[in-house]
Amino acid sequence: MSKNGLDYEVIIGCEIHCQLGTKTKAFCSCENRYGGMPNTRVCPVCLGLPGAMPSVGQEYIEFGIRSGVALGCGVNSFSKFDRKHYFYPDLVKGYQVTQFDNPICKDGKVEINIAPHGEKAVFKNIRIERVHLEEDVGKSLHIEGGHSYIDYNRSGVPLIEIVSYPDMSTPEEAARYMQTVREILRFVGVSDANMEEGAFRCDANINLKINDNGKQFITPISEIKNMNSFKAVRDACTYEIKRQLEEYNSPDRKAFARGYKNTMGWDDQSGKTVVQRTKTVMIDYRFMPEPDVKPLRLSDGFIAQVSDTVGELPADKRRRFKKDFNLSDFDVETLTSERALAEWFEEAAKNASDPKKTANWILAEVLAVLNEKNIGLSDLPFGATHITELVNSIDLGKITGKQAKTVFAEMLKSGDNPESIIKKFGFEQISDIGFIEGIVDIVFAENESAVEDWKNGKTNVAGWLMGQVMKKSQGKANPAEATKLVNQKLKALC
Ligand code: ZN
Ligand code: MN
Repeated sequence: MSKNGLDYEVIIGCEIHCQLGTKTKAFCSCENRYGGMPNTRVCPVCLGLPGAMPSVGQEYIEFGIRSGVALGCGVNSFSKFDRKHYFYPDLVKGYQVTQFDNPICKDGKVEINIAPHGEKAVFKNIRIERVHLEEDVGKSLHIEGGHSYIDYNRSGVPLIEIVSYPDMSTPEEAARYMQTVREILRFVGVSDANMEEGAFRCDANINLKINDNGKQFITPISEIKNMNSFKAVRDACTYEIKRQLEEYNSPDRKAFARGYKNTMGWDDQSGKTVVQRTKTVMIDYRFMPEPDVKPLRLSDGFIAQVSDTVGELPADKRRRFKKDFNLSDFDVETLTSERALAEWFEEAAKNASDPKKTANWILAEVLAVLNEKNIGLSDLPFGATHITELVNSIDLGKITGKQAKTVFAEMLKSGDNPESIIKKFGFEQISDIGFIEGIVDIVFAENESAVEDWKNGKTNVAGWLMGQVMKKSQGKANPAEATKLVNQKLKALC
């Protein structure tokens, strides 16, 4: 890329924190849940009281393994917990329990689609360095007038931190990466990854490799902390590229003298990054092994058993849907964005006479209803097989597409199956040849002059006659059969 006459390359790596949806907190049996009255879900362990002993929850470990495997990582049979020391009021113990040199999972990759939305997919792999377990901290609430309160309900909530390699080279790629990781973790059921509640947040590390007339310059890394929307990641990275270039071009290059890494925050309101602290030397977190929690030694059997619960991942499902059902990239991406939707579609497609048509119906009609009513699939009064039945009815010529919409509307109201609604509304098309032939005969007899016109070369009369047949049958004649019979009879007259 080139701006202000400089060639430059953008380098972005991400650290994502995701809360795990376990029943209890990481090292105690306090309920793990968002919200509620402050400081009501706390105990001596998550308040860091002297003498309190942590114990690792089994589900925490399982969710950690499942996350790592879903992100393509290998699981380490040995890992351990460490203390990371720093001071902050919401950090009760004065240290965070995390995994420093022996993470639970490492060496993964995530496939992201970097093509513009709606276009044919172009995939890029983003490598993952590690996935480690840690605990969340409490939450400071700054009240107007200079007071601050702290809610420790979040203290000790299980987290995973996912560290990528700096493989992303545009702000859009960083946003897509964040989106893909979130989708995968939701898919395998380890987290709802609710971004508004802070359950899924991303730090982006961004800097530039500038080629200034043959001289290479690497700008200090900006670490933009705690962004909880894809837009924030995209906007913050875009802003940083511009800011770093401007800083490079400024006469004193003041900021670049600051150090090798700046910690920044993203201010959505002003659309700017704000420097929070400048690192001239590595912060010494005084890491040490956590003496109160035993290292994790996981047997191959246990790792295999937990890995098995991961199931088919979105990327594999996408490939299979594309191949088996001949669907577009865009359609399979939508269908696999949520596990529930992917499974619902698969159930509907199982006995479908044309799975592609079934997919289209779900994408166009069902999703529209879900969006409009802001409900989920499980809130619908009917199941996936009703859609199979409905689309098969169109496909087999029993009802028209227009009638199908009426049937669908009735399904939404009553939850009845299409078959009975079609009967109730008298929509069933009649494909019986004898019945249609009888009507064709009547129409021909009643419209002799039109038939004469056809004989004289007015070929469009055939369509008109066909319309008369449909009218006389009150729309019930199978249109394809009726057309065929009208044409046959006309030809016989020649
Ligand atoms: Zn607790
Ligand atoms: Mn962390």
